[in-house]
Amino acid sequence: MYRTGLGLDTHRLVPDRPLLVGGVRIEAPVGADAHSDGDVLLHALCDALFGAIGSGDIGEHFPDTDPRWRGAASGQFLEAAAEEVRSAGYRIVNIDATVVLEKIKLGPLKREIAANLRLLLNPYWALPDDAVSVKAKTNERCDALGRGEAIGAHVAVLLEKVVLEKATG
Ligand code: MG
Repeated sequence: MYRTGLGLDTHRLVPDRPLLVGGVRIEAPVGADAHSDGDVLLHALCDALFGAIGSGDIGEHFPDTDPRWRGAASGQFLEAAAEEVRSAGYRIVNIDATVVLEKIKLGPLKREIAANLRLLLNPYWALPDDAVSVKAKTNERCDALGRGEAIGAHVAVLLEKVVLEKATG
């Protein structure tokens, strides 16, 4: 049995904040304004994973009103989401992500970011190279994303059930 999940996230870009994408630090004059470390890609991936197993969203799991998550490394959110996916009896088949950034070019970092996602998930599943895709695009100068005032991420995941249901009767 398969399940799909979709996750979206956006954060405003402001000075004097780190810019993290998929756990990789990007050199930039601005970073994500957020309660946690503001990693849009990890947040969108968590939402895709929670969504695929019908387990709410990242805001329910890690409310931004909770002081425990102030400045939190988003890798721990991903660990919790992966743990929940595994407990539900699923594995990740593939991840397809798009990061929306206008002025800052991810370029060659796309591969590094994809490799880091595989590394973060490696304690749970050994995902092959071609199962984790990170793409980048601009917002064609439209809206806040297109003015370089924000960063966005879209993530789709496919999960497959690995624990067979017990036969009845
Ligand atoms: Mg977020």
